[in-house]
Amino acid sequence: MSGRLIVISNRIPTEAEPSGGLVVAMHAALCNHGGIWIGAHPEVTEAPSSHLEEIGDQTSYTRLAFRIAQREHEEFYLGFANSVLWPVCHRRGDLVDLKRSFETTYGEVNKRLARLIMEVVEPEDLIWIQDYHFFPLASELRKLGFEGRLGFFLHIPFPALGDLGALPQTANLADWLADYDLVGLQTRADVARCLEMFRAQRRAEVMLDGRIKYGARVFSVRSFPIGIDVDTFVKAATEGCDSADLGDDLKEEYIIGVDRLDYSKGLPNRFRSFAQYLEKRPNKDRRVSLLQIAPPTREEVTAYRQIRVELEELAGRLNGQHAELDWTPLRYIHRNIDRNLLAKLYRGARVGMVTPLADGMNLVAKEYIAAQDPEDPGVLVLSQLAGAAEDLTEALLVNPYDIEGMAEAIAKALDMPLAERKRRYAACMTMVDKTDVAIWCKSFIAALEACEAPLAWGT
Ligand code: UDP
Repeated sequence: MSGRLIVISNRIPTEAEPSGGLVVAMHAALCNHGGIWIGAHPEVTEAPSSHLEEIGDQTSYTRLAFRIAQREHEEFYLGFANSVLWPVCHRRGDLVDLKRSFETTYGEVNKRLARLIMEVVEPEDLIWIQDYHFFPLASELRKLGFEGRLGFFLHIPFPALGDLGALPQTANLADWLADYDLVGLQTRADVARCLEMFRAQRRAEVMLDGRIKYGARVFSVRSFPIGIDVDTFVKAATEGCDSADLGDDLKEEYIIGVDRLDYSKGLPNRFRSFAQYLEKRPNKDRRVSLLQIAPPTREEVTAYRQIRVELEELAGRLNGQHAELDWTPLRYIHRNIDRNLLAKLYRGARVGMVTPLADGMNLVAKEYIAAQDPEDPGVLVLSQLAGAAEDLTEALLVNPYDIEGMAEAIAKALDMPLAERKRRYAACMTMVDKTDVAIWCKSFIAALEACEAPLAWGT
């Protein structure tokens, strides 16, 4: 590779040793290629920073942070990114909170970041921008004269054409994306929605080789399904304590759910379907519990406070109706759990329930599969609306709006014969292996490198 790799993401790991699949994969790529990781500093400041600060003590690559002011945190991060773009991309136009200041600050943060990037970038560098916080960054960099290769990866679903109408008119996704050389999306369905958006534009032409011509720009849109760091996860699930050592309550049969407490994760319907399973189960002596881990997220946003209240009410009602003196059917934990412990909890669970109403990929689904004992695997009940369903076709696929259907799937998963469980697990595990995060990272970088070489500056 000729130039360095420059990764831009909203969060940047601050510790010397990174954790988490994506962070590990980026770290490895940056160690291999040499380069710079630029992201927002976790601490919010009074005034926005006018320079990039070096953080961490990496020797093989540099980590640079920019500081976000409190107002920017509210208007750029909680505002435009998470109260406009997030609901639009997750088919929840009804939750969009549109304020002029959100849009303005989103534009300003991207403009400022582009100026800061220009101070450290060289013409041959490959710039890889992550996620919806930075859609317009390529346009801002092009305006400042960067002609090198620019890649973008969207971790969340690409919005449907009909939902784009909920964006302000100035937020033109087509204009923003056309300034990249490579746009990476999670699934083939995302690519189809993106092409649909471009086909609806008069300026756009989908060329025979699949690239898109948009005015004077030519660029590619492709799917790169993200995955987990499989080996590390399998190790975490199998080494150290046994899942049977996790406490008396977890010796009985349980179903597991692990999701940030986000309205896109379909948690109310999951609770309703579990309640229906409990009501309808023929053997009332069979005590299967649901262990739901749902750490808090974006609590400053009203829609997130509302989903918490709704869920706590449902959880109370469910236990009120179904608990016994010596048994609590739903255990709901509103805290973050360490990933190593999660791996063991997944392994001990008879069923993994992943039932989002919309999700870019959903890594919990892949983690649940990777954590299973191949000789006695549990069953994954997976929403057909999660990106992961495109890879994991042998999971028990469900419609997350169909509560009866999900209750039936729980019963089917709990009674599934060993041979079928093994067959489904093996098929899913093959896909989890094939989409390991290291493969994702390498294939995106290779595709970006293969984009036409940049013109020399000033020509
Ligand atoms: N996770 C965690 N602790 C928790 C809950 C979740 O470490 O208490 C991790 C989980 O293991 C997974 C990630 O957070 O790696 C969630 O990723 P996913 O793609 O499922 O959903 P997202 O939160 O990105 O929408």
